[in-house]
Amino acid sequence: MSFARYIARGELARALDDMARGRVTYAPRREGDAVVFRPRAEGEEPLLARATVPPKGVIFPQSERLFAFIREKDPNDPGHTTVRLDSTVDIEPALIFGGRPCDARGFHIFDRVYLNGPHRDPYYAARREATVVVTLACNKAGSTCFCHWTGCGPADTTGSDILLTPVGEGADAGFVAVAVTERGGAVLEAANLPEADAARSDAAQAVHAATQAALDAQSPARDLSATPARLLERFSDSDFWRDMSDKCLSCGACTYLCPTCYCFNITDENDGGDGMRGRRLRSWDNCMSSLFTREASGHNPRMGKALRLRNRVGHKFSYYPQLHEGVVSCNGCGRCITGCPVSVDIREMVVRATEANEETPNA
Ligand code: SF4
Ligand code: SF4
Repeated sequence: MSFARYIARGELARALDDMARGRVTYAPRREGDAVVFRPRAEGEEPLLARATVPPKGVIFPQSERLFAFIREKDPNDPGHTTVRLDSTVDIEPALIFGGRPCDARGFHIFDRVYLNGPHRDPYYAARREATVVVTLACNKAGSTCFCHWTGCGPADTTGSDILLTPVGEGADAGFVAVAVTERGGAVLEAANLPEADAARSDAAQAVHAATQAALDAQSPARDLSATPARLLERFSDSDFWRDMSDKCLSCGACTYLCPTCYCFNITDENDGGDGMRGRRLRSWDNCMSSLFTREASGHNPRMGKALRLRNRVGHKFSYYPQLHEGVVSCNGCGRCITGCPVSVDIREMVVRATEANEETPNA
């Protein structure tokens, strides 16, 4: 399924209204220095800027209720308590507009774990099923973008239902919209748009090629096929990881800004002081936090930040690819680099881990 429609720039808000009929639309909005995904009102002109925070929270909320619980004592036998659970999953049909290909590919990384792994996650599955992803292809490479190293790219359609590419300028500015999935096709049809003619489709291809060329000029794509093994060889090199993590503050910003980080913690929250009713919550957690792997005994197998950073890099570029047919669980969006208060650069770690071992294969 693949067909293309054309949306004139001035028609975008109307087309989005039609595509999102019956759905909550999440689109980029500026809040202070940040650009975040927020519900969009009908008719609202969408911001086309690249968001500083990915849209993963629409499908995998930062904190969500898994179920509510009520404990009831038997009045005739106070030692006997029953527990009632309400595990209703409250899901709204949604449409995410304006994420970039690296954002959409993040959902694909999640899918392998939460949909296609040994334990299908019903909460994630229900939201993913109910959400249409309309992605904006990039026409400008950011200074920290390295999607072309990781199997992603400025016009990658992985994880998207519809891909929009900006074409033309001034009065002739618009978007070529390509349906990637059947669901995307149905949504695009509903917008009643003209077909994209050959000239506009060619213009979209030219935008893809130009952005790819700009990325290549900025930093030639690297072959990361040896990286999973190289990182494992580096596993016990504590000097290397200490050096890499020297300035890390363990703040976790890199993980919260990452479209592919999917770890969580589970806590119970009581409604009153007696613990008889409350809810179980799932909230984002991350391997850069010192408490993430602390065991009930108090032992923590990843005591220092060097071991935590090793896990973050190793998981994305070694352990995940080894479990998932070579797919790297980093999309090269660069947000962890721009968002890190001390500019820890994941590219540098991957390159140094790989290159140092090339020089000294038995290091
Ligand atoms: S954002 Fe930077 S300082 Fe904070 S945990 Fe990540 S690497 Fe460390
Ligand atoms: S690790 Fe960094 S560059 Fe890679 S997807 Fe996550 S935030 Fe983006």
